[in-house]
Amino acid sequence: MDETRRAPSAAELLHLRGAGLAPGEPLPPPVVLAAMFHAPGAGTGHAVYGRTDNPTWEALEHALGHLEGAEAVAFPSGMAAITAALVVALTAGDRLLIPADGYYTTRLLAHGPLARLGIAVEERPTARFAEGGFAGFRAVCLETPSNPGLDLCDIAAVAAAAKAEGALVIADNTTMTPFGQRPLDLGADLVVAADTKAPAGHSDVLMGHAATRDPALAAALRDWRRLSGTIPGPFEAWLVHRSLETLELRFQRMCDTAEAVAARLAEVPGLGLRYPGLPSHPAHGLARAQMARMGFLIGLTLPSEAAAEAFIAACPFLRPATSFGGVHSSAERRARWGDAVPPGYVRLSIGCEPAEDLVPALEAAVRTALA
Ligand SMILES: *Cc1c(COP(=O)(O)O)cnc(C)c1O
Repeated sequence: MDETRRAPSAAELLHLRGAGLAPGEPLPPPVVLAAMFHAPGAGTGHAVYGRTDNPTWEALEHALGHLEGAEAVAFPSGMAAITAALVVALTAGDRLLIPADGYYTTRLLAHGPLARLGIAVEERPTARFAEGGFAGFRAVCLETPSNPGLDLCDIAAVAAAAKAEGALVIADNTTMTPFGQRPLDLGADLVVAADTKAPAGHSDVLMGHAATRDPALAAALRDWRRLSGTIPGPFEAWLVHRSLETLELRFQRMCDTAEAVAARLAEVPGLGLRYPGLPSHPAHGLARAQMARMGFLIGLTLPSEAAAEAFIAACPFLRPATSFGGVHSSAERRARWGDAVPPGYVRLSIGCEPAEDLVPALEAAVRTALA
């Protein structure tokens, strides 16, 4: 199999840490806090200034690049990575397509600052993303499963059709991670992700990255980072790098438990359930074909805002919090932010708690809320 196309190996990622070390060097890479580096004379080819180079980001990027099978560029948040991807892709007068049901802040960025700079922004629902074709778009930004509604689009079909029209295809893979879905293998030009979520995994740091197999695009992303100054902090980069080493373990367990939760809750009458792994999901067949795992996010629709809040309050494992992907399960009623979902829709993020405790506790909380 092509070296860049195979699934990421957690074992190799763990092995990377010790590679190339001299005896007595620390096994974890050090946190290098340096605004400037020793740079005598006219020499180049080494680190000079902290906005351009940092060995701690480089270690993180090496690991992220391994997982993506691509060159990865780290940014201080998911939004910083998405901004970088859109800025390098677009010029004034270009048309950009984004999901109507995708990450809220991406839509605000597109309709606000990017529209002011002369980008024509259009939206389409994820479930019908390929309808109407892609003629005239310079960039197409997809998100599947979409956050928060968990709708799917066919990445390979969108990428083939959009690239045939000359568009750059950007995939936000935050909800899946490289262990769950590989958009670059399916034809996307660029992957962007909020490593704030499952990759960091402990709800204590923000980070993002963009990854591509196109060296010119990777160089453009690095240029944007250097010029805009949107650089990750070395300590934050170190934390995320450390977390990546358990990402596969956490992700598999979160997906295992989410499948068990979805199967159990599917038996509760009166509850709307949205999970790509359930046959009731409208794109279940596509999910099975495109995703290695079914993910750790579950959408629950309770009859009302009050019932949804009662469910969140009734389960002792649930943190009422925005964001997702942490080791602790969390839940949020997304309509509180104005997302286009029913008032009783809860986005549930399954964490690493033991399934034998979590599954019955969630079922009991749902039954209490519905009673
Ligand atoms: C959280 C999220 C982002 C933004 O990430 P930040 O690190 O909060 O900037 C982008 N896309 C999706 C799908 C997300 O869930």
